[in-house]
Amino acid sequence: MSIRDARRAANQANKALILGGNVSVETIRKAIEALRGITITVQEMPVDQHDVPAFTADCGNLKVVYYAPNLSTLHRQHNILHEFSHLLLNHEETATGITIKGFSETFPTQPRKIMGRFSFDDDAEQSAEFLAYLLSTRISGKGRDERGGSSGLEEVFG
Ligand SMILES: [Zn+2]
Repeated sequence: MSIRDARRAANQANKALILGGNVSVETIRKAIEALRGITITVQEMPVDQHDVPAFTADCGNLKVVYYAPNLSTLHRQHNILHEFSHLLLNHEETATGITIKGFSETFPTQPRKIMGRFSFDDDAEQSAEFLAYLLSTRISGKGRDERGGSSGLEEVFG
């Protein structure tokens, strides 16, 4: 896959994701859930494992996205959208699992695999990164709500 193909995959996934007027991380999460028939939850990493900015635990139908809390709001949002993008692109089907020390006890159900930065090939990373960017532009466009800035991020961080 070339960079052009990676971008095309991201563009197609972005177009396939129908979002209403007020786009937020939360509405993007719900739209991906509906499109893929999965449940996605977003949680702060419960341990000091912040050498990865975010990762996703694949618990079958349930996908749990974990983000490192010690980053700016925008950076956290980007990392979450990046993980969402992998899910929107079905990347967990082909990803290699990683091991995160001392973490497994905290999962809601034992994950089939945990996916982080090293789980995906470069093409998958390129596509996810570009798609995260495309999704973020939909948040900061005219869909941004009057409260400004937060883009509904506090809803998923709650
Ligand atoms: Zn990635």
